Amino acid sequence: MSGTFVGMPAFPKAARDAVRDTTLRGNLRHATHTIRDKRAKAVAELDDWQQLREAGKRIKDLTLRHLDRHLLRLEESVTAAGGTVHWAADAAEANRIVGDLVKATGETEVVKVKSMATQEIGLNEALAAEGIHAYETDLAELIVQLGDDRPSHILVPAIHRNRAEIRAIFRDRMAGWGRPAPEGLTDNPADLAEAARLHLREKFLRAKVGISGANFMVAETGTLVVFESEGNGRMCLTLPETLISVVGIEKTVPTWQDLEVFLQTLPRSSTAERMNPYTSMWTGTADGDGPQTFHLVLLDNGRTDALADDVGRQALRCIRCSACLNVCPVYERAGGHAYGSVYPGPIGAILTPQLRGTTSEIDASLPYASSLCGACYEVCPVAIDIPEVLVHLREKVADRGGPGHRLEKAAMKAATWAMDHPGAMAAGERAASRTRALHPRRPPGAGAWTDSRDLPELPAEPFRDWWRKNRT
Ligand code: SF4
Repeated sequence: MSGTFVGMPAFPKAARDAVRDTTLRGNLRHATHTIRDKRAKAVAELDDWQQLREAGKRIKDLTLRHLDRHLLRLEESVTAAGGTVHWAADAAEANRIVGDLVKATGETEVVKVKSMATQEIGLNEALAAEGIHAYETDLAELIVQLGDDRPSHILVPAIHRNRAEIRAIFRDRMAGWGRPAPEGLTDNPADLAEAARLHLREKFLRAKVGISGANFMVAETGTLVVFESEGNGRMCLTLPETLISVVGIEKTVPTWQDLEVFLQTLPRSSTAERMNPYTSMWTGTADGDGPQTFHLVLLDNGRTDALADDVGRQALRCIRCSACLNVCPVYERAGGHAYGSVYPGPIGAILTPQLRGTTSEIDASLPYASSLCGACYEVCPVAIDIPEVLVHLREKVADRGGPGHRLEKAAMKAATWAMDHPGAMAAGERAASRTRALHPRRPPGAGAWTDSRDLPELPAEPFRDWWRKNRT
């Protein structure tokens, strides 16, 4: 996976800093509550939401079980439709493939559709190292790029910015990237959108190469699908002569009939729309219509490792709707940057450690970035049991061990032994009751959690003894 966020501190430290930022907390609270309320209304309109959710889960699980077969079918279909398929095992390979393809066109500029996969591999940075400028054309991604910032939400990457901040970014930075912001730009949303539209239009009209991801790939026909709200994606997918799509292998669905379920669940669950304004679909190339050259880069980058994990593989069902972020109390307070990856929130806490492994401090801390309240599971349109995966990943991190984890394991081992030996346990309870005046009220040196909590007071008589005396 990309090194874009390398050097970030572990989640607890990053979250502590973020929680102190009152502007950030205000922006996040306002945005997440607005989106979550709208989403709840859009979902409540469908009587069969739970059935759709179950259908989405099953389609994804079945597809993942035979992913090798579906991917080969997809490759055949894309090739038959005039496209070229490339296989990338990791971020470095994907970046090299895309860099070589752009260089082969002789171009030094590309326009991009919002894409999580290309952020995951750090494509913009890799292209910049080759002298190629990648221009983000999604409004929120544009704000992030111009602000020299990092995305903090899957769907709304600039969710941590308010209107005044966006105005300042446009006013100060647009000129360095192309057409400057209009004189006297206000922070009225319509004015900000118009400034972005004017800035981007010249890039759309000039670009010869477009780069995208995809929400889905239909194996039976080799069709790629992008859902979007602004129309910038449609411009990038139709105007350039060459289109390169970088897509995670788990985005495959076998048939159009399977797609029908997600066409209903994704818009409602992400933008709270019955249907998103632009759904672009393309199949290879067509003479005189749209890009004349199409490349599909199929990205693994840790996905087959996740697939091998019986519990963790359900994270690959994710359709990136971001509903789990908007209901998460931890995300709402910590913000997206604290997760140290392009995948923040509950899905990031289970996906990133599987794609990147848990050897770095931040990745090992992510499975703990949750209160396990289960709100994420409730809203997930493909029923990913995020709390289950979090606990599973915590176990993996604990098994690898640090001093704290070793202590916890030793304590659990001792507890298991005591419960297996009732006589010894009863003797221990009596001894603890007799010496209760000597016991500390708080466990020493175990950090803030125990500093703010009292130990329960030991009874003068253990329950077993009381029961023996009183049960008649
Ligand atoms: S885990 Fe579920 S709720 Fe979260 S982004 Fe993925 S599909 Fe949406």
